[in-house]
Amino acid sequence: MLRQLLPRCGRALRAPATLRSSQILPLQTWQTARCYSIKPAAASAAKVLDLDPTKLSIQKTEKPKTLVDPSKLIFGREFTDHMLTIEWTSNDGWLAPSITPYQNLSLDPATCVFHYAFECFEGMKAYKDKNGDVRLFRPDKNMERFNKSAARIALPTFSPTALIELIARFAKLEERFIPNERGFSLYLRPTLIGTQKTLGVGAPHSALLYVIASPVGPYYPTGFKAVSLEATDYAVRAWPGGVGDKKLGANYAPCVVPQLDAASRGFQQNLWLFGPEEYVTEVGTMNLFVALRDKETGQKELLTAPLDGTILEGVTRDSILGLAREKLAPEGWLVSERKITMPELHEASLDGRLIEVFGSGTAAIVSPVRKISWKGKLVDCGLTEHEESGEVALRMKNWMEGRQYGDEEHDWSYKC
Ligand SMILES: *Cc1c(COP(=O)(O)O)cnc(C)c1O
Repeated sequence: MLRQLLPRCGRALRAPATLRSSQILPLQTWQTARCYSIKPAAASAAKVLDLDPTKLSIQKTEKPKTLVDPSKLIFGREFTDHMLTIEWTSNDGWLAPSITPYQNLSLDPATCVFHYAFECFEGMKAYKDKNGDVRLFRPDKNMERFNKSAARIALPTFSPTALIELIARFAKLEERFIPNERGFSLYLRPTLIGTQKTLGVGAPHSALLYVIASPVGPYYPTGFKAVSLEATDYAVRAWPGGVGDKKLGANYAPCVVPQLDAASRGFQQNLWLFGPEEYVTEVGTMNLFVALRDKETGQKELLTAPLDGTILEGVTRDSILGLAREKLAPEGWLVSERKITMPELHEASLDGRLIEVFGSGTAAIVSPVRKISWKGKLVDCGLTEHEESGEVALRMKNWMEGRQYGDEEHDWSYKC
């Protein structure tokens, strides 16, 4: 292995000790770090390390950015002053984490992430509460999912509590970017990439975990706006045994064309169906909830698709299910994770039993649906002409925000 790998390290080797003693590594040292990791001496001496927040070094920017007027924020366009980075090598494990000024990465064109999509990511937010404290929302769920995504594509996993601690430090450092207003937050994007320089397909021997942050405003600045969907009939997002239940970058680029097609016909999002039964799975990059009445008994039911491998395990999905079991079930609602087909949804709509339909995800929390275009029909999802949201979606948004912004002290909220 040594002979195979060494010629690929097109850089001079320096002593491993020099590298490890340096707390702030220039970002360009990945290739060099990889070369060290395959030196036999370093390999035999090194103990593979887990992520260690106590080793964090912080190098603050000398050019703090000017804050953008919160009302002018566009999702994912502005970034904060700094970034959190942690390198990993198969021999040494996780190296010392660092917070540095936000900057470009420098990677060899042969780096495996560019060729074979060794990339997974997370999407989570930091909120400011009424006392000005910074809070994360259920970060343990994001870390659990991040580790599952990483493991599926042979990238390294890490201690979830260690990364939460580091992300909390980072979010707190960037707190001036979080407007102290309802609906505003700091969107955090943990990203993990394989950095090995090789065109050979295999498990990367080096990786980089980084977290960047983008201040964001409310998804609906002027209140809910119900969207209309087009059911996609020629493409499948996810399938049993596939990777649609993981947050891998490779899952997202193929979703854009169906999205553009839907948009060209005036629909804001596309609806993903699965199989000849036409099971309703997800909407765009959100989970989907349906509220309806039972045909025979009239029993009210809030349902979402089960986690059968074709559904992304949304943290918002899980939270809505939890809130529904806690607050709607006592009102007589049935709360289910079960499959529903497009013909069943259509029938409920025709019978007037469809109460409401909404998407769920970190960006919008809930996104109400007005109608679905399917097989030349427009399926009405239960809103009256003048409504932009149903009752359930609205209540869910308020309950979620109560916990996200720390109005209600709850163990879903993590104070940084
Ligand atoms: C991220 C994502 C969701 C929503 O997950 P949250 O954790 O609630 O933000 C749903 N579906 C897909 C395909 C996603 O990528």
